[in-house]
Amino acid sequence: MISAVLDHPVAMETVVDNPESIPDYGRALDYISASRLSCWQQCRRKHYFRYIADIPSKPSPAMHLGKVVHATLQQWNLWRWDQIQYTRSDLIRTFLGAWQKEKLDNPVKWKSDLEEVKLRNKAWSLVSTYLDEQVIDEDEDIAGVEVRLEAKLPDLPPVIGIVDLVREGGRIVDFKTAAKSPSEGSIAHVHGTQLAIYALLYRHCTGAREGGLELHHLVKTKEPKVCVSEIDPLGDREIVNVIELLHRYVNAVMAEDYTASPSFMCAGCEHLERCKQWPDSMVKGDTQ
Ligand code: SF4
Repeated sequence: MISAVLDHPVAMETVVDNPESIPDYGRALDYISASRLSCWQQCRRKHYFRYIADIPSKPSPAMHLGKVVHATLQQWNLWRWDQIQYTRSDLIRTFLGAWQKEKLDNPVKWKSDLEEVKLRNKAWSLVSTYLDEQVIDEDEDIAGVEVRLEAKLPDLPPVIGIVDLVREGGRIVDFKTAAKSPSEGSIAHVHGTQLAIYALLYRHCTGAREGGLELHHLVKTKEPKVCVSEIDPLGDREIVNVIELLHRYVNAVMAEDYTASPSFMCAGCEHLERCKQWPDSMVKGDTQ
């Protein structure tokens, strides 16, 4: 099935007209991932700052919480996969260890100690709510945890994805932390690029169609909530579309297309000031 899809390569245009001016694409073309592609779809200039100028993101409380929740669920899945007995206390210890590790690796500037404690309590309440809701039967067979998938497709850099969990039957699961509940009417559309990349990679690496895709949102409302969205296996058209998108991505990066996409999201963009100073801020490695 996939091989039929791959018979439709979109021509990759080379835009280096002046051999003395070799563009620097940063790490944008080392490989392509769902997050790179989604960032580029959101705003090409933001993609430039993040992946071509290579300006690191400043650690934020939300990122800290998301990474620690993710690390804790990862360990929970690994124990289940290895059929190792564990208790809730073991998970709390894992959670606290992940919290400390993240503090050392990517220190956040907390407004106060209380802010950190509150967020840590919120993060654990998300994990414990997820476990209490028994979204996944703890005895269920697991096909894979943190599965690294890679596809080498014609005329493209490697496409890489790391899938949080593959449930029995080839159901691909991605864990997300979010400030509010996702909208069921648009969730498959909003996350369409990520879902299609995962489906493409799964099919490429296993030779089988995925059994379905699931987004498990752990929602940071006052009372933590869990929203599970189940999405049917994708159609072949969606796989063709995402391969075309991958080619468009490569072409745009090579064409040095850094078009801005101003929207309400700019207010929360960490590159807003740089963006306003464009093109003066178009300097690789600029870390103002
Ligand atoms: S401020 Fe807006 S337009 Fe500028 S890089 Fe950020 S998201 Fe893009």
